[in-house]
Amino acid sequence: MPVTIGALREIAPNETRVSLTPEVADKLAQTGARMLLEQGAGSRANFPDILYKKVDWAPSGSDVLGTSDIVLTVQPLSVEQIQQLKPGAVVVGFMQPHARKAEVKALRDRRITSFSVELIPRISRAQSMDALSSQAAIAGYKAVLIAGMHLPKFFPMLTTAAGTIRPSQVLIIGAGVAGLQAIATARRLGAVVEAYDVRSATREQVKSLGAKFVETGVSADGTGGYARELTAEEKAKQQEALDARIAAADAVVSTAAVPGRPAPKIISRAAVERMRPGSVVIDIAAEQGGNCELTRAGETVNHNGVSIVGPVNLPASLAYNASEMYARNLLNFLKPALDKGELKIDWNDEVFAQSCLTHDGVVKHEPTAKSLEG
Ligand code: NAD
Repeated sequence: MPVTIGALREIAPNETRVSLTPEVADKLAQTGARMLLEQGAGSRANFPDILYKKVDWAPSGSDVLGTSDIVLTVQPLSVEQIQQLKPGAVVVGFMQPHARKAEVKALRDRRITSFSVELIPRISRAQSMDALSSQAAIAGYKAVLIAGMHLPKFFPMLTTAAGTIRPSQVLIIGAGVAGLQAIATARRLGAVVEAYDVRSATREQVKSLGAKFVETGVSADGTGGYARELTAEEKAKQQEALDARIAAADAVVSTAAVPGRPAPKIISRAAVERMRPGSVVIDIAAEQGGNCELTRAGETVNHNGVSIVGPVNLPASLAYNASEMYARNLLNFLKPALDKGELKIDWNDEVFAQSCLTHDGVVKHEPTAKSLEG
């Protein structure tokens, strides 16, 4: 029996992305699966229904949830949505396992097989499925554009009849996927860019993008390519060196994160008070508590003339490309498990094994299972 793969119109506030684009719906249909889409699912991402050629339509999200064998989602399903899933259904999407305990419990108790894209291992083979990366790159790009909108200055150096204008100084804190894209974007716009990360491996990446690496003498290389949390002493040393660079910047884009932990506080109130009026801080980590002490998620705070912007869900502000990239990530994840329209998961494949959040009434991701017990 061919499986039915369903996608919903997202219900989370301000979520404009869609998990299934016309291109990916076609490709999944070619595997023999039946595609089922809620009417209007892609419209906020500028994929009107008419562009989807190989799908069946459902008038409501409940119809999709109740009939699909596999549900593709951007945001975690709500507990109410999970209750409506077909028995034995598979869900693939962002699950936010650290934060969404009630939802994880509901998935477990309903014996749903859920794959959390955040848990896909960061191995070379899985790069094409890496939704964290595809969406982070968008956030990094957009954050620099937001900085440009707030700055009362040009990014590039300009030589004009009215004299020479000096380029803006941009500091990027955290040089992961978002930070590197922010560096590249700020450089393209002509700013003078420097960047900092606790992982020493980023030094060469930062330099290769034409930015200067800020040396603080602190390294926090953790496991799996991620950063570890710093000690109090290391934090103080890092802070001192960084404060001077923050004070010199016209725009700071901060992207520092430690998986499963609140965002590290790197930009203190005192550091903001040393910045020139008109300068901006764009804090991409706002949703995880922010890298700046003054950040408020979803708001712009003005502190002595310095704007601290705490954007939320930046990928949704570029919904067309964000959906394209995300849907392709899901296709690349699912395709190896689709055989003539049937779902055959190879549990020996580390990609499926590690990204599985719940299966058969069990929370498979150990840190999440432990946090539920706690
Ligand atoms: P992330 O979003 O978890 O964190 C963003 C950045 O913040 C990281 O570079 C981290 O080192 C940095 N950071 C953490 N604490 C900091 C602090 N106190 N001060 C300054 N910076 C701090 O990271 P990410 O963008 O998801 O990428 C994490 C790693 O995974 C990177 O090494 C990246 O290259 C790697 N990666 C690998 C693959 C793959 O092989 N498939 C895919 C994507 C990313």
